[in-house]
Amino acid sequence: MSDFDYDLFVIGAGSGGVRLARMSAAMGANVAVAEDRYLGGTCVNVGCVPKKLFVYASHVREELEDGAGFGWQHSGELKLDWQTLIENKNTEIKRLNGIYQSLLENSGAQIINGRAEIKGPNEVVVEGESYSAERIVIATGSWPRLPEFEGAEFVKTSNEFFFLDELPQTATVLGGGYIAIELAGILQGLGVQTKIVYRGDTLLRGFDNEVRRFVTAEVQKKGIELVLENNISKIGKSRDGGFDVSLESGTAHQADLVLAAIGRIPLTKGLGIESVNLETNKNGEIKVNERFETNVASIFAIGDVVGGPQLTPIALAEGMFLANSFFGEHKPALLDYGNIPTAVFCQPNIGTVGLTEEEAKANSPEVDVYVSSFKPMKHTLSGRDERSLMKLIVDRKTDKVIGAHMVGAEAGEIIQGLAVAIKAGATKATFDSTIGIHPTAAEEFVTMRQVRVE
Ligand code: NDP
Repeated sequence: MSDFDYDLFVIGAGSGGVRLARMSAAMGANVAVAEDRYLGGTCVNVGCVPKKLFVYASHVREELEDGAGFGWQHSGELKLDWQTLIENKNTEIKRLNGIYQSLLENSGAQIINGRAEIKGPNEVVVEGESYSAERIVIATGSWPRLPEFEGAEFVKTSNEFFFLDELPQTATVLGGGYIAIELAGILQGLGVQTKIVYRGDTLLRGFDNEVRRFVTAEVQKKGIELVLENNISKIGKSRDGGFDVSLESGTAHQADLVLAAIGRIPLTKGLGIESVNLETNKNGEIKVNERFETNVASIFAIGDVVGGPQLTPIALAEGMFLANSFFGEHKPALLDYGNIPTAVFCQPNIGTVGLTEEEAKANSPEVDVYVSSFKPMKHTLSGRDERSLMKLIVDRKTDKVIGAHMVGAEAGEIIQGLAVAIKAGATKATFDSTIGIHPTAAEEFVTMRQVRVE
């Protein structure tokens, strides 16, 4: 019999926390999970899930427009009922919250509603009630970073975006990363006149440069206005209820909505990490080793709060790792952070896995690059001016494919499959000897024969 109330106390019921709590409970551990907001965390409530639903919503107009080339006609004005979209999305998310609740309850984990504060290496207090635990795991996630210019209080973030009372007519999105480009794509697709203000000269720093240039051109074709190498310096309220947005370049414009997507910071405020002298790094992320151990032996941390790739599947993998290492029969292998596939649901989508061309060439000059850019078959009849890009990076010495990148419809779906091949060490010869599926865009990945000449 343990001297503690719980074997494991998880703080935060997001992707990582729920996975850890329910798998640990299923392995027979006595587990509590504290949550003060919503079950499922950012991903389910204000991230991946509503975002993807809204991306679907934003495609409808294009699909109808594209239909004309296939003979479809529709009459009458196309109108979006924003409230219906919000309500239906809310209903779906409530359903998912319920699923998370039953997953936890059925596993035997106890859900404690309220904000948890660490009081000691083995003590957590929630709403005045003290609990002891052999191990505490912090899985509190991250929170949108807020800008600091004058009028920053008028800015909305992804936290509010999915609950706006009404769809604006004009929007300015600050940032050039995942969230800015995805939300700008949604807004534009829904009919909002959208601007992106980004301090760099090409969107999506960190991605393959050719992909970045391609996407930067494609989003402009969709009608998004890019204001590059610029930043917001000030926002004020305008007389019509919107906002006056001043830029560092000295120009100004109006927008009904100003959305900031300038990164996410670890959520440690009020968590009591000072009470146990938990070490953090310069970004405020909790310092952990490869086993997610902090500098306090009984306290661990996973997910966005420890930095690293802020991606749901990473938090899930980290949660699973800890459950197995605490309570599993066999100790798990350390997580492999190489070749993490990812997608950006901008329009068209990006899917990517492995090294960018720049990363590969920084490691070795012996790199072959295969690129194909083409008009997708659908758009031969739709007439839409949208192109796709596919790119393979190959290590010339080993013939291994070390990077695959795509811009185009369903890029995430396609790259997920390639990620398995790349993780398995597939060579370019294996790609070449794989029979394509015709007619698909994906078959391009097994038919690229010409090395790009520098
Ligand atoms: P990102 O780190 O992707 O992008 C932040 C952007 O904001 C960058 O363009 C950055 O510019 C810019 N920026 C940073 N600070 C400032 C500032 N002070 N003023 C102006 N611009 C600034 O963060 P996001 O908020 O877009 O997303 C957070 C994370 O969430 C992502 O990194 C990703 O891991 C995850 N996510 C994943 C998704 C997916 O898998 N599809 C979807 C959404 C989010 P610069 O490039 O110059 O640094």
